[in-house]
Amino acid sequence: MTFEELGLEESLLEALDYMGFEKATPIQEQAIPVILELNDLLACAQTGTGKTAAFILPILNKLAAKPSTNINTLVIAPTRELALQIDQQVQAFAYFVNVSSCPVYGGGDGSDFETQKRALKSGTEIIVATPGKLISHLNMGYANWDHVEHLILDEADRMLDMGFFDDIMKIVGFLPAKRQTLMFSATMPPKIRKLAKSILEDPKEISLAISKPAAGVLQAAYLAYDSQKAQLIRGLIADKPSYTSIIIFTSTKKKVNEIVRALRGNGYKVQAVSSDLSQADREDAVRKFRSHETRVLVATDVLSRGIDIKNINLVINYDVPNDAADYVHRIGRTARADSTGVALTVVNPDDMYKFSKIEELIEMEVPKVPLPKELGDGPEWSTKPVRHGGRGGRHGGGRGRSGGRSGGRNSGGRHSGGKGSGGNRSGGNNRSNNKRR
Ligand code: AMP
Repeated sequence: MTFEELGLEESLLEALDYMGFEKATPIQEQAIPVILELNDLLACAQTGTGKTAAFILPILNKLAAKPSTNINTLVIAPTRELALQIDQQVQAFAYFVNVSSCPVYGGGDGSDFETQKRALKSGTEIIVATPGKLISHLNMGYANWDHVEHLILDEADRMLDMGFFDDIMKIVGFLPAKRQTLMFSATMPPKIRKLAKSILEDPKEISLAISKPAAGVLQAAYLAYDSQKAQLIRGLIADKPSYTSIIIFTSTKKKVNEIVRALRGNGYKVQAVSSDLSQADREDAVRKFRSHETRVLVATDVLSRGIDIKNINLVINYDVPNDAADYVHRIGRTARADSTGVALTVVNPDDMYKFSKIEELIEMEVPKVPLPKELGDGPEWSTKPVRHGGRGGRHGGGRGRSGGRSGGRNSGGRHSGGKGSGGNRSGGNNRSNNKRR
């Protein structure tokens, strides 16, 4: 469907043309008419589907037809990076419709707060905020929220995971009861339904292929012990000189630092993004990565949701995310909007059960690829949960989250620390005994 068929204003069609958006994506096709008809909306859509434009376009369409001089729209997002990115998309479109927006989030120097305060006081039409910083402003009482017509919650499930339920309810308490509320979430657990019930009125529901990675992502997994991971990652990067943008995800800040140190030692241009860094450093790292100044970005899940960086060739999961939906988010960084990309996950014995659950969620078996010969044998694939308790099976060297335990029977006992070559390759065993849904 074209955007003209969706009935958007001429100025927005011009903006879309300028940005090279030819056809509406499925979420845009379904959500835009619902929003233009002033319905509340509960949309289940994963990142990379074009959901940001799905809510921005109809809001701007309304503002183009009926300009406002007050705060008209409040978008709430879980992380600073996502808030900034949504604001940038708003500004890209808004250039053509003469609407202003301001991002409101913390972590900068004090001058940011003053800029945000001015924007709130002067009635900037679109505010894109993280919950915590917005509450600080709300408490000061200088913003007038009486004219807000639209409230949008993006990545609502992530916000609840981060403990923002009460903050969201407090923010909603400042807004007019008569408003249009749109809620976007990648998953629909009961707590999202509860939140939806509290703040949406008779919403239309849209659900797009929940938790399935984009079709263009080529997925594979390496079964490896913790002590093999660093060398494996170095090899993967060295093997692919044509990959100019690589993201490595890991679940802890500590591991981010370890990976960065290891790769820098090998002369790669690497930067980190984790909550350990200042907001300015985080933004700088993302900016350099976007502009291809940095080839490799190492990040915790701070970055896995919603961040749109174009043309990422390779996503490496240094470990298996705890939340299965985060796997989809992490690998969703590649193959965005119809391009193709590669997502490789390194799975140690502790993570195999978790990975099998991810395979169930995405309803596909991810091929297990043999480790490079020089690394020796990896563990065997097993979908049984690993039980720790005894002392057996510690594999030399690894000190990550799993402590390098090879998990006894699943791993076939001790690993020889990279001495062997060839032989019993894990990749030969591609079958999992998962039940498929
Ligand atoms: P999102 O899911 O909102 O993060 O969007 C993912 C990417 O798709 C962003 O780079 C958008 O600029 C891009 N995009 C969104 N809608 C379209 C469209 N209709 N045509 C082409 N690209 C799009």
